[in-house]
Amino acid sequence: MGSFSFVSAAAARRLEGKVALITGGASGIGESTARVFTKHGAKVVIADVQDDLGESVCTDLNSSSASFVHCDVTKEEDIENAVNTATSKYGKLDIMFNNAGIGGTPKPNILDNDKAEFEQVLSVNLVGSFLGIKHAARVMIPAGQGSIINTASVCSTIGGGASHAYTSSKHGVVGLMKNAAVELGQYGIRVNCVSPYLVATPLAKDFFNLDDDGVHGVYSNLKGKVLRPEDIAEAALYLGSDESKYVSGHNLLVDGGYSIVNPRFC
Ligand code: NAD
Repeated sequence: MGSFSFVSAAAARRLEGKVALITGGASGIGESTARVFTKHGAKVVIADVQDDLGESVCTDLNSSSASFVHCDVTKEEDIENAVNTATSKYGKLDIMFNNAGIGGTPKPNILDNDKAEFEQVLSVNLVGSFLGIKHAARVMIPAGQGSIINTASVCSTIGGGASHAYTSSKHGVVGLMKNAAVELGQYGIRVNCVSPYLVATPLAKDFFNLDDDGVHGVYSNLKGKVLRPEDIAEAALYLGSDESKYVSGHNLLVDGGYSIVNPRFC
């Protein structure tokens, strides 16, 4: 009975002693992940362009567990500074969660697509992940360990689920993740993606012009199951924890089976 209690207590704090940096941590999936990570014993740095929101999430967590840093992931100096904030404040970086993202404007017709808008989505979703991986690797390589997690999307595996820019950016994130996993494995660094289906966050609601009910009314293979930001945070928790110590180069779909089923048959 005694040893059973010990195992339960250890399992309850799966990131004890770890330090995580979460981009896009002021809202939605990133915010939920910051809450789950700190609950599991991690120190967290939230990096976002929404300063007030990010600061208030940190205040709501605990000032000794969470800090905010302004960071636009499209700017290399901002990412560099965010990584340096984690190492100077908490001494190291164990988990890098490249999660910041934008949906862009949903224009399905390629003839209506604007080059500047396409580049903006790629800049945040893909270039932002590249810069996050690069600067995390800068401090993880000398440490000889680390877990880098990137938020892709179910749109990284299928066409037609979102705009051309968004689908391209998320396919790109998975390609980038695979390359980085191959290169960084020799240093003990794991690189993975988590790929959500529709989650009721500001991004999804704006992109599809839906309310909460609308988001969850969209087709899902798991009837009656509603996908929430916490479900993605739990997947990130697994990829950030030592429980996934042999998992690298993997795109973890959290989509209720959406991407493997033809909706016409359901
Ligand atoms: P969200 O809008 O709630 O959160 C996104 C966060 O990213 C915001 O806090 C925003 O301020 C931040 N951000 C945007 N641009 C930034 C920049 N240039 N630099 C730093 N931060 C920036 O949306 P979310 O749904 O939580 O999105 C998180 C990730 O999940 C994104 O990568 C998104 O593409 C992905 N995703 C979301 C869904 C969904 O249905 N919500 C599905 C699949 C993938």
